[in-house]
Amino acid sequence: MGPSTRAVHAGLPPAAQGEPLTPGPVFAAPYHLQGDVDAAPFGYGREGNPTWSAVEAALGALEDAESVLFASGMAATCALLEPALGAGDVLVAVRDGYPGVRGVATDRLAPRGVEVRFVPTDTDAIVAASAGATLVWVETPSNPALDVCDIAAVAEAAHASGARLAVDNTLLTPLGQRPLDLGADAVVHSATKALSGHSDLILGAVSVRDPAWAAALRSHRWQGGAIAGPFEAWLLHRSLATLALRLERASANALALARFLRERPDVRDVRHPGLEEHPQHALAARQMRLGGPLVGFTLDGAERAQRFLAALELVAEATSFGGVHSTAERRARWGTDDVADGFIRFSAGCEDSDDLLADVEQALGNV
Ligand code: PLP
Repeated sequence: MGPSTRAVHAGLPPAAQGEPLTPGPVFAAPYHLQGDVDAAPFGYGREGNPTWSAVEAALGALEDAESVLFASGMAATCALLEPALGAGDVLVAVRDGYPGVRGVATDRLAPRGVEVRFVPTDTDAIVAASAGATLVWVETPSNPALDVCDIAAVAEAAHASGARLAVDNTLLTPLGQRPLDLGADAVVHSATKALSGHSDLILGAVSVRDPAWAAALRSHRWQGGAIAGPFEAWLLHRSLATLALRLERASANALALARFLRERPDVRDVRHPGLEEHPQHALAARQMRLGGPLVGFTLDGAERAQRFLAALELVAEATSFGGVHSTAERRARWGTDDVADGFIRFSAGCEDSDDLLADVEQALGNV
């Protein structure tokens, strides 16, 4: 089935007379639990919840895997990384991905005796660093530079060293890229971004095809207690139905914006994996079904970039991406990424392309 069909039907129960098409959220701490506890599907809300089960079934259907829901993308990341790595183990991680992951590696894993090797999002560099690794972590396209590495080649190198490969697929979601099909062992998502897509919740998920690993992730969640609220879980499931529509529109808007910006003499270094001049365009076209909502570009200096952001009328200055509303920010304001002072990370939303481009054009004109 096609991606829209999968997204619309994912995780819904079979038809039952008089029951709603889409089940509502279930709010529960304890469940009735009389006598034989093994027979009960749910016993206590930190261990399981029917609304989690439904959205996990939906994510699992989109990934062809088992998905485990967490309270945030970082809770999902920690649930994957922390139990997997101990003293003497080696983590290879991209240095141009989400900075929170680097923080976990440096502040939590390295002090425990994990050797951390940071590498650029470059296939050869990752392959070379993988010898002797325990776990390889990539985010492709990287964020914010939008470089692309070859997931199949990286998976092969990781496996040759006895390592597992985890891919942060937040930017593209399973409808834009399928790392597990390319050989990755785990996929991590900040469901806060395009998976939910409305900028109104924080959630995360890990998807794996090894049932023992899925069980270990569930056990980690139960013990650590980093659980999703049922209402957020329900909102995520509701939002998945429009994932294909949203991501296709946002990716098309991002590419249209990138093509518009590359013609402007006052804009430098326009980045989008769908642009023919992107250094890994051929790989991106092979590996990714969609280009994703992010566009990177550079204006001349921090002040000019800030004036551009302030002049935008349709686009919120905010630090997230993948929402239906376009957002943008001057990424250097955080001091966490290796980018120019005037570098803008722009997340295209689902507005009409002409309106978005007109707003960007007037804002550039204003500065
Ligand atoms: N991975 C990526 C690529 C992200 O951009 C983010 C957050 O910005 C995270 C993980 C962390 O997700 P969350 O904010 O849901 O904890």
